[in-house]
Amino acid sequence: MNTSSTLASSVQEREAQHVLQIYRRTPVVFERGEGVHLFTGEGRSYLDFISGVGVASLGHAHAGLADAIAAQAHTLLHTSNLFFHPLQADVATALAARTGLDRAFFCNSGAEAVEACLKFARRYWYTQGATSRTKYVAFTHSFHGRTMGALSVTWDDHYRAPFAPLVPNVVFADPADVAGFDALVDDTTAAIIVEPIQGEGGVRPIPPAMAAAIEAACARTGALLIADEVQSGSGRTGEFLYSRTLGLTPDLVALGKALGAGVPVGVAMFTNAVAAAAMPGDHGSTYGGNLLACRAALVFLEALDSPALKASMAAASDRLFTGLRAMQRRLPVIRDVRGAGLMVGIDLTFDAAPVVAAAFERGLLINRTSTTVIRLLPPYIITTADVDAALPLLEDAIVAGGNA
Ligand code: PLP
Repeated sequence: MNTSSTLASSVQEREAQHVLQIYRRTPVVFERGEGVHLFTGEGRSYLDFISGVGVASLGHAHAGLADAIAAQAHTLLHTSNLFFHPLQADVATALAARTGLDRAFFCNSGAEAVEACLKFARRYWYTQGATSRTKYVAFTHSFHGRTMGALSVTWDDHYRAPFAPLVPNVVFADPADVAGFDALVDDTTAAIIVEPIQGEGGVRPIPPAMAAAIEAACARTGALLIADEVQSGSGRTGEFLYSRTLGLTPDLVALGKALGAGVPVGVAMFTNAVAAAAMPGDHGSTYGGNLLACRAALVFLEALDSPALKASMAAASDRLFTGLRAMQRRLPVIRDVRGAGLMVGIDLTFDAAPVVAAAFERGLLINRTSTTVIRLLPPYIITTADVDAALPLLEDAIVAGGNA
């Protein structure tokens, strides 16, 4: 056994003693990162096209982020929401400008951001005395997180069943069935919740006809719209919110993942109309929006404003989609290539698990979602050269995975 696998198995054995066994981890121990690469202690290098599930947006060991975090740590990290500090207003202002929504609630994860959206959608109607207006309309194949509220609007029974009963009054519409959806939205609906691109559900953009139907249903019934942009938002698709690309005008938006560039940051954004219902004490978070989280978000938002980064993201995305479509013509096992920007799904005719393993063996990190779909969520800093390096590895892995 070489040193690398010895280390991996010793870490695995120690974790097996006391870490809750809920993850199927690949047996590798990463010790260091640099840009789009991760390294094991023995120096084996991997090209990272999943970025910690869409989180390490500025890549690994980003010097500007590291310096800002270190400086913040030497100054002040946390004071709680009992007091003011200078950075929350800065992040809230920057997010308001980029999302078009007025007010931010800070938390620590995507699930918490969704949770806040679900709560304040009901709070809005409660304040108006419409106490029976509590229904949530969600979509089949949705994923919104693991807390009880977020789980209640998550579709897959595999995640839900062991934890029932969940929050009542949730119904699911098929994103391809406009008439079925219309029948579910009525004047008891508090909110419709949608991922503009379903991430865990297989990187499926909401069809334009459904986006139009959502807007029409909100106009018809007054139902609020929650856009869960935890995965698709924060600039990953080229626009700050993919909702805008679809022509959706959400009242509440959940953000997370890429926004903290590796520091846990969740944010729920609200229109003033929704936010007006919130009263002191309604909701809160000990850590939410502390100085560490806000500093990281500010570094990320500033980086995202760079025209050079925007241009290189667009070029990398073009190269990736062009390359994948050419690969699809060569490999009939690729059923579909979909997504936007740097959120990409490659749907295969077979279970993608062996492809992920084969890519790993070749030094490329990707992941599988919705059984047959390979998901790519690379860091925003990838270049066309990184794409050129990844595509042949991916093609080899798909061929090898198909023969496995
Ligand atoms: N919403 C969406 C669309 C997600 O993709 C995820 C995570 O994958 C979540 C919510 C939950 O985020 P977190 O794992 O940070 O709680």
